[in-house]
Amino acid sequence: MKATIQFIEKELDGLYPSIEIQGFIRLIFENVCQLSYTDLVLRKNDRINSLAKEQIQIIIKRLKKFEPIQYILGETEFVGLKITVNPAVLIPRPETEELVDWIIRLADLKSPGILDIGTGSGCIALAIKSQMQAANISAIDISEEALIVAKQNAIQNKLEVDFFLADILTWEDKKWGDFDVIVSNPPYVREMEKKKMHTNVLGFEPAKALFVPDSDPLIFYQRISEFAIKYLKKGGWLFFEINENLGKEMIQLIQNLGFKNIQIRKDINGKNRMLCGNK
Ligand code: GLN
Repeated sequence: MKATIQFIEKELDGLYPSIEIQGFIRLIFENVCQLSYTDLVLRKNDRINSLAKEQIQIIIKRLKKFEPIQYILGETEFVGLKITVNPAVLIPRPETEELVDWIIRLADLKSPGILDIGTGSGCIALAIKSQMQAANISAIDISEEALIVAKQNAIQNKLEVDFFLADILTWEDKKWGDFDVIVSNPPYVREMEKKKMHTNVLGFEPAKALFVPDSDPLIFYQRISEFAIKYLKKGGWLFFEINENLGKEMIQLIQNLGFKNIQIRKDINGKNRMLCGNK
């Protein structure tokens, strides 16, 4: 095992910060050899079989091309749930876990009706359901491929969420029920912000889930907020994950539509990342 760890460290040296390489090593051994971090420390001198070695070599090859480890391994963790991911869905981010946490604490209702818009892997909807069993949760996405992943995640986590295909930009075409909580983490990265992004995001994650035109960066927020002001129950909550650079504009947008008690919350990196308001 020692030699394999050294091989990984040597191959990835200079491509990733060493703390990230150590994280990869943990994930790789957990996934390929079902070994915990403690095993890794205590059984350093054990041999690993040649099949595992081969698998690890393939993983390293892909990491050298900056493919995200979550796509390579096909899964990630989100609020304690094992979430399957593939390039049809965005990889769940830690800041989105903070959004889920905020929703659960603020919208502490008995059996709320909740809608997640642009659900992707289903991570937000499923994480809320896992923490609020009595909630009635629906989730939509425009991507059929994403919904396949989301439904698989519901089954593997034994959680009930009603997933269906819909385009929120044309919400007037459908009939909807009323909701206590509407949440969305829509695309919000402006084309002009692409420069700052890493190859692992730009080259591999679904552009449709990430980018908005510079000329209309709040297009999804505008349409979702209009939808929410119609379909939220009185006193219901709207929650968004937002672009850190557009906090003021976001407050303005939902204020103009009549939302009250608007709050912005920073993520763990001190960036304006979440917003909520009451109807
Ligand atoms: N936070 C994501 C990123 O920076 C973007 C998520 C989104 O566009 N909804 O990659």
